[in-house]
Amino acid sequence: MEVKKKIALVAHDNMKKEMISWCRRNQEELKGHRLFGTGTTGRLVSEALGQEVVRFISGPLGGDQQIGAAIATGEIDFLIFFWDPLEAQPHDPDIKALLRLAAVWNIPVACNVATADFVISSPLMQKNYARKLPDHQSHNERKIEL
Ligand code: PGA
Repeated sequence: MEVKKKIALVAHDNMKKEMISWCRRNQEELKGHRLFGTGTTGRLVSEALGQEVVRFISGPLGGDQQIGAAIATGEIDFLIFFWDPLEAQPHDPDIKALLRLAAVWNIPVACNVATADFVISSPLMQKNYARKLPDHQSHNERKIEL
C-alpha cells in the first residue's frame, strides 16, 4: 500500500450525513489519496469535497460487490464503510460479502466515525505499508480428497 491510498467510501442512507461530515472534517487528509465510492455516496462526497471520486454502481444495485471485487484485485486498499446498524438492508448479503473480502485481503476497514478518526490520524497513513496477503499458491494447490 503506497502513501497515496485507494480509499473506498460507502455509507447507507441513514449514515450518509455522518459520512459527509466526516469527509468534510478530514478534507485536507483525503486530498492526498484517491477516492472511490458506491454510486450515491460517491456523488455526495464528490459534491461536498469538490474532489474526484471514482464511482461504482449504487450499493444495492451491485456496487458493494464491485468494491469487494476491486479489493480482491488490488484496486482498493482501504475501506470506510458506515453501514447502518439499526436497519436491515435489502442487500445484507452483499454487505457481509464486502466485509468478508476486506478481512480476507487484510485491508484497513472503519465501520464507524470513531474508528475512521483513529485510522485517518494514524502515522501509517503517510507511509508505505506492506500488508500480509492471502497465499494464492497454497490455497490453489491445497489437497482435495476425491
Ligand atoms: P449508495 O450505496 O452509496 O449507492 O447509496 C451504499 C450502499 O447501500 O451500499
